[in-house]
Amino acid sequence: MVHILLEYETFTPFISKLMKRDIINHLLSEVSHRMLAVVGVLVLALGMVTALAFTPAPVSPEDRVEVVETLKLTLGNPLDQGDEIYAREERIVRGERLDQLLSRLGITDNDARAYFLRSPETAVLHRQLVPGRVVNARVGGDGSLFSLYFPLNGGENGLIIEEEDGRLKARETARQYETRQIMKSGEIRYSLFGATDSLGIPDSIAVQMAEIFSGDIDFHRDLRKGDRFSLVYEMRFLHGKPASAGRILAVEFINAGRTYQAFYFAREDGASYYNGEGDSLRKAFLRSPLAFSRVTSNFGRRFHPIHKTWREHKGIDYGAPTGTPIRATGDGIVQFIGVRGGYGNLIVLSHRGQYQTAYAHMSRFANSLKKGSRVTQGETIGYVGSTGWTTGPHLHYEFRVRGQHVNPLSIALPTSIPLTSAQKANFQRESADLKTMLALLKNAPVAHFE
Ligand SMILES: [Zn+2]
Repeated sequence: MVHILLEYETFTPFISKLMKRDIINHLLSEVSHRMLAVVGVLVLALGMVTALAFTPAPVSPEDRVEVVETLKLTLGNPLDQGDEIYAREERIVRGERLDQLLSRLGITDNDARAYFLRSPETAVLHRQLVPGRVVNARVGGDGSLFSLYFPLNGGENGLIIEEEDGRLKARETARQYETRQIMKSGEIRYSLFGATDSLGIPDSIAVQMAEIFSGDIDFHRDLRKGDRFSLVYEMRFLHGKPASAGRILAVEFINAGRTYQAFYFAREDGASYYNGEGDSLRKAFLRSPLAFSRVTSNFGRRFHPIHKTWREHKGIDYGAPTGTPIRATGDGIVQFIGVRGGYGNLIVLSHRGQYQTAYAHMSRFANSLKKGSRVTQGETIGYVGSTGWTTGPHLHYEFRVRGQHVNPLSIALPTSIPLTSAQKANFQRESADLKTMLALLKNAPVAHFE
């Protein structure tokens, strides 16, 4: 099996949105014609893709080798040495003067040097040569300067010096982040984090994915070996290096053979995630009372043998470290809060439609919560513990309808206000590109190279 990791720049000024779609469509058709290698060349030639990697499926996540090619930015004839632009980065050293720094950055052009050393616009730089700060520049092969970024003060803003109409100009600017869309696709073999780690996907994106589908999938219990996901998410880059993850724009998750899709969409009263038809993914109940995290996912499936003797055991147990926050799975009212026999510290919430949820063995309750308090979905109501009949810290969770224990899997009620037809039209227009990207990711990992 071949996995494609495809990263491409979103806001590149050279490629219009329309062209982008053409390219993706082209990619799709090419992929289906078993010409992945050709596609790679095509995309690289267009200068759209910053990194493209084909990697074989790993024997284990550690075996995965990611091949990433970074393109050198070239202007004009690439054979002409003088036309090349190099990205330079240097750290200011103690006691360094500005002219020495310019030399280390490879800026030899006399006009540029004179500008830095004499212009009042750049006078501030002499006073801010703080050791350790990183200065970035784009310098021509002939020592000319195209642009330079110098961090000021705490680094939250900086001075950018750029050529404009044939002469250098300086302007202060906020930190220079660049947002790119990243497309990645993977298969779960051992755990979600095992898969995301091997693909270099940040934890915050893995957690967002679990949150987006939290009404449909319990990421602690429902994941299956062979589950697959495709992601389009934002990543902020600072001087070409990944700085922080943004939000997921589109995601597909195939859980136990069932496909779920989500697309980010902002409307006047807030942004949310919708499926391909434009229906909200928010449900009346979360599938899990514990937020998915590396900690809760690593805590393991500890068995609690005491429940074997508990004839009335009709709940779901979540192993988690003491102190892990427990969240209300739906909007409701505190019906019971206190100690009750084997349950230990227990909270029972009552919800509309005669639903009840119960949360047992808590180490403590959330402050100020008492009988009759109103809670909202996702709100922390207490913390995992081992009070009552238990051999170790875990949460015992029950879901009841009219007093009868039921499997919460069978309840999946949508809650939020549906999109209007105008909003739906907007949604369909805005999500079209994202749908194409998910289709590309889905179709790409086929066994061409085996
Ligand atoms: Zn239990």
